[in-house]
Amino acid sequence: MIDVHCHLNFHSFSSDYDAVIKSALEKGVTRIINTGTKLDSSKLAVDLAKQYSELFAIVGIHPHHADKIELGNNWIDDLEMIAKQSKVIGIGEIGLDYFSYKSNGIVDPKIQKEVFITQIELAHKLKLPLQIHNRLAGEDILMILKEKKHLLQTVPGMFHCFAGTKEVLKEALNLGFFIGFDGNITYPGLAPKETVELKELAKLTPLDRIVVETDSPYLTPIPHRGERNLPEYVILIGKFLSGVKEVSYDRIVEQTTQNVYTIFNKLS
Ligand SMILES: [Zn+2]
Ligand SMILES: [Zn+2]
Repeated sequence: MIDVHCHLNFHSFSSDYDAVIKSALEKGVTRIINTGTKLDSSKLAVDLAKQYSELFAIVGIHPHHADKIELGNNWIDDLEMIAKQSKVIGIGEIGLDYFSYKSNGIVDPKIQKEVFITQIELAHKLKLPLQIHNRLAGEDILMILKEKKHLLQTVPGMFHCFAGTKEVLKEALNLGFFIGFDGNITYPGLAPKETVELKELAKLTPLDRIVVETDSPYLTPIPHRGERNLPEYVILIGKFLSGVKEVSYDRIVEQTTQNVYTIFNKLS
């Protein structure tokens, strides 16, 4: 099983990432892909990937951080330097987020869009696929992706931690994107402001377009909900998906692994 999106580069793992990685590998996780959310966490994702053969990095500026001063004027050049390093396999997590967070509110959508588009252009320059973050912004994200279709790779990338309407799912699939599901698929009911259950969206997604991720340290699957999430729980999510898709767990492992290699052609 591959965890295609997590954050061992975050503070929550700073004291025990080595034990967390070793435990995941022992339990059968074959690759762990850490994703950056700003420049420093992107750099850390790359540093981690250089330490372990099974780890890879995806680098980018999350829409939450699109308005931070840290970015400065040369942020895209700084990001390009990071993205050109070995073991970087994609640009992410990038996208739009229209959920109002207690700590952060909503970053000005105009700034979010500018930062998103600038990073689509960088991915085009470096021939890298995208790992997209979408919260309550599917329509605007799709509008931008359709406008910039000429800049996308043949396999354009994936929507990480998918949520949204059936229409957004359909259009993302039509554009060639893969769809990531996380531990929140094990939660009963609907997330705030969402309208379709994740299980239903997973049923509508062909198995050859699904990837599995933990988003550790967040979105811990049941029965560990409330604890810190770990890459090894990607196995629990895979098992849950095997029930939703009515196929064996082995089939889930085989197909989702193949899918990750199809998206990220720099993954070895
Ligand atoms: Zn995200
Ligand atoms: Zn994330």
